[in-house]
Amino acid sequence: MVKVSKIKIKANGPKVLLWGFFLLTLFSFSTSANSPLFLKWYGTTCVSITDGQSVILFDPYLSRPSFWSVLFGSEIKSDPALVRKYIGLFEEEKNKAIFISHTHFDHILDLQNLEQLWDYPQVYGPMNLKFIDATSENETRKNRKIMTTDKVISVGSFKISALQSQHSPLPLGFDFAKGKLSENINLPTSAYQLKAQESFAYLIKHPSGTILFQSGAVSRESYPVEYVDTLLIGIASRKDQDMKAGILKKLKAKKIIPIHFDNFFKPLSEHITHLPFMDSQGFEKLVGSERIHWPKLFEKIAL
Ligand SMILES: [Zn+2]
Repeated sequence: MVKVSKIKIKANGPKVLLWGFFLLTLFSFSTSANSPLFLKWYGTTCVSITDGQSVILFDPYLSRPSFWSVLFGSEIKSDPALVRKYIGLFEEEKNKAIFISHTHFDHILDLQNLEQLWDYPQVYGPMNLKFIDATSENETRKNRKIMTTDKVISVGSFKISALQSQHSPLPLGFDFAKGKLSENINLPTSAYQLKAQESFAYLIKHPSGTILFQSGAVSRESYPVEYVDTLLIGIASRKDQDMKAGILKKLKAKKIIPIHFDNFFKPLSEHITHLPFMDSQGFEKLVGSERIHWPKLFEKIAL
């Protein structure tokens, strides 16, 4: 009996090895693909999402200049130490990419410092992106890609596509820094020089969940999905509450994380205060508070 079983094991040896290898491959694939997702919010619409292998970051903005420096057109600057302190923490993640919703200062000011810190990852955003601070480093131009709504970008197990969006209406009907850039804008510069024309929302698909990043509040067209696990939605303006209601009626979302509700002229080191024109209670009424997760700065949120 003993002899027979020994022979059997010997004969099946290569098969056992093959199965072992197959299961190991399957296991390592499923652990990277189905890893839990974690989100961090850095104020305004600056958000990172990671599965431990890859990180995608939206709208890098940490060096929040004062209201008066923006209003009076003073030069505004990115602080590399702040970028390092708050976002330079992704050492495990081997794939990194940055996505820009639109090119206003409060969505892009720290882009170049983050590009340097992350060794020039791919950056995707609207057309104006290629004119902002792109002369000093040739590398910068190469890693920036103009996003269009027909592209699907793969970053590890993430698949990201852009949706046409609109800028949220500003208080008093003010049109801030609107327009197409046609020549290079070097930083530091005034906030008025960082113009935005197009605006994107991003749909993020991952085996562990689907997320919609909507920094403004309005989509021109209906979304190509009916359900997302997580909706990140900018609520800076109270003027488009009705349109938000329309979006939220059509799009079912399990969890809703409001963003762009904080006063982005105050340094991140200070306590978060709300934007004066923002209507958090109205938003809660609209959505139902049980689905809302109000993010805290740098909190690690499991999705
Ligand atoms: Zn804007």
